[in-house]
Amino acid sequence: MKYQQQRQAIVAASQAVSHGTTGNLSVRVDEGFLITPTGVGNDDLSTEKIVFINREGDIAADQLLPSSEWRFHHDLYQNDHNTINAIVHTHSTYATVLACHRKGIQAFHYMIAEAGGDSIRCAEYATFGTQQLSDNIIVAMEDRKACLMANHGMLAVGYDLSSAINLASQVEELAKQYVLALQIGDPVILSEQEMNINIEKFKTYGKQNDSN
Ligand code: 13P
Ligand code: ZN
Repeated sequence: MKYQQQRQAIVAASQAVSHGTTGNLSVRVDEGFLITPTGVGNDDLSTEKIVFINREGDIAADQLLPSSEWRFHHDLYQNDHNTINAIVHTHSTYATVLACHRKGIQAFHYMIAEAGGDSIRCAEYATFGTQQLSDNIIVAMEDRKACLMANHGMLAVGYDLSSAINLASQVEELAKQYVLALQIGDPVILSEQEMNINIEKFKTYGKQNDSN
């Protein structure tokens, strides 16, 4: 079966990040992308159940049905010039708490810059699995690597699967800190100028010299 290594990585990652049948993951490959099947719990997931979708969005019939959210995975890859190679969608608790209030995350902490801008937006509500939801996500993801999804959850993208998973977990941590910070009043929001400095710093943050 083609793309065995990537299929294995998706199965392992899904077991690490999703609960029950909520959430989904995908990885870009040469001719399209691989995505988790719809409604399959982690205990039942295996490499042959991962679904391949080509660049045109065609889904060969001899496979399980793909994640109901395949449209936004497809559209995010189509909108991008090969900087995104993996997408993780979860219903992680604190991100979902904010999303249920249709509240994005402002620059209350410098780490917001890791998601690419001075805020993490909340995409407007649309029914799960619809083209409208995908369209709303594309708007919220402009110049961003993550967003919340109103009354639903969150998503993060990355250069590879581990960077997408890492960002999804950072966004969840920031959402938790923001929810807690809001409980004792309105936190101080960093200025646009300060956030621009942080966004620039994140472009090189964590990159070690060859000698290290
Ligand atoms: P799928 O099982 O179809 O991927 O749906 C899970 C989900 O989170 C829908 O938004
Ligand atoms: Zn979902």
